[in-house]
Amino acid sequence: MKLNDLQTFLTQAQAIDSIAADFGQYGPQPDLFYKISALILGNDFKTSIRNGSKRAWIRRNNDQSFESVNDEALGFYLIHVLETFQRDAAGMAQICSLVFETPARPGELEGESGVWIENQMNGFVCKRCANCCRRLENACTREDWQLWESLGRKDILSWVKKEQLNNGKVRYRAWIDPQTGRSAESCPFLGQKPGTGMFYCTNHAVKPMVCREYPYTKKHARNTGCKG
Ligand code: SF4
Ligand code: SF4
Repeated sequence: MKLNDLQTFLTQAQAIDSIAADFGQYGPQPDLFYKISALILGNDFKTSIRNGSKRAWIRRNNDQSFESVNDEALGFYLIHVLETFQRDAAGMAQICSLVFETPARPGELEGESGVWIENQMNGFVCKRCANCCRRLENACTREDWQLWESLGRKDILSWVKKEQLNNGKVRYRAWIDPQTGRSAESCPFLGQKPGTGMFYCTNHAVKPMVCREYPYTKKHARNTGCKG
């Protein structure tokens, strides 16, 4: 839940999902992975230098020996451990702060414990380059879908694919061309001011949450080509 422009609250489960999304979106981040491995795995993690490069080692159980893992496998393992072993909100805040490169603190909202993330985006100015509107790996949320349904916006809904996943969850994918069934190269609701390189959203009032909140952090902006 976003309280204002500066702070976002994540429950423990949402924090883990967001960390997994960060790993998935940006791929292996060795320096970060090694730092948070020390927090998440403690003595069950170590590194060594071989042929001039750093290598990670993990021990899955006390009675097992250390095994070498590549950075991608280490990322998956860290998410697995976070999902399997509950940790306190202070520990999760420390991990979030390193992953999202922004201050985070433990707290609660409506009785649920979690982490407050300071987005530090108060000075952000959008340059209207529309890069974000062309990077369409974004998913919409059930809330977006429900809003468009309540407004009778079949024009928007026709560009969203609702998929039932094996784990019972539903995924909403935007923007999928209703003619071809493929991801659109550019958002169908993107407009351009004639004679300028400036773009605007023709759906501004009801654009998906992911568009309203983009970019979440400076790291997110830097890694996704935002010019703001
Ligand atoms: S809905 Fe608007 S902000 Fe979102 S991708 Fe499309 S044009 Fe961009
Ligand atoms: S990529 Fe950044 S600067 Fe460009 S339109 Fe999106 S938010 Fe604005």
